[in-house]
Amino acid sequence: MTKWAVVTGAAHGIGAVIAEHAVKEGYRVAAWDIDGSAVEQTARDIGEACVGAAVDVADEESVRAAAARLPEPPRLVVNNAGIVRFGPLLDLPVGEWEAALRVNLTGTFIVARTLAKAMVEAGGGAIVNLASINGIAAAPHAGAYSASKAGVVRLTEHMAMEWAKHGIRVNCVAPGLIHAGMSDAIYADPEVRRVREGAVPLARLGSAEDIAAAVLFLGSEKSAYVSGQTLAVDGGLIKSTLASL
Ligand code: NAD
Repeated sequence: MTKWAVVTGAAHGIGAVIAEHAVKEGYRVAAWDIDGSAVEQTARDIGEACVGAAVDVADEESVRAAAARLPEPPRLVVNNAGIVRFGPLLDLPVGEWEAALRVNLTGTFIVARTLAKAMVEAGGGAIVNLASINGIAAAPHAGAYSASKAGVVRLTEHMAMEWAKHGIRVNCVAPGLIHAGMSDAIYADPEVRRVREGAVPLARLGSAEDIAAAVLFLGSEKSAYVSGQTLAVDGGLIKSTLASL
């Protein structure tokens, strides 16, 4: 039986690797991204089981139209689309704050709710939301991003609670220091890389593959009794904050 997965933000970075892993796990994948031409190219590169579409996750009409084009309700939804807006809160323009909230939090809400309605009729499925360790603990200049990702963590708990009766499990993956996607450029500086690797108990940066493996686990029957959880995939970083004392 064909199982459909929707992966948002799948044109680049972690989302593209999640889409690729989902195809390897036997899903047909609807890869959604605001960058339409890039996501269509990514889908072609992954193969015929992946179809790209231009979708703005923060625009309910755009999401509804793409959902209506799915041949059947998805069994797995991965809310991966996200943006960073860094800056000290004292100087952060409200527009930057709103952009982070709109894509990361409102976008997750719109996509999850739109597709959950179809999943209810189909008998359930799994939703995996991408948060961040910044949604669990504060980090310098990350106030807007952290607030949006903390919102994703709590929203995940509410969706898990409300939709369990419909057979929908909802969980979060919180990536740590990942050498991929939006963080790629940071690690071009060897000194930054050395310091950050040194802070991670497992002594390496994470990869997009590390994140994809956790997402597919939470989407699979192997996690059939797990819902409302946030799994930090961070080499032990967030649980070792007292290590330097
Ligand atoms: P990325 O910038 O490489 O990819 C994000 C994708 O989302 C892009 O393809 C972009 O076009 C798409 N996107 C942005 N706004 C959108 C919108 N409105 N509608 C649809 N698509 C949109 O980033 P990434 O590093 O691959 O991050 C993926 C997820 O993982 C994000 O949610 C991010 O916050 C989270 N994360 C990443 C890291 C990291 O270090 N890379 C760490 C923690 C969490």
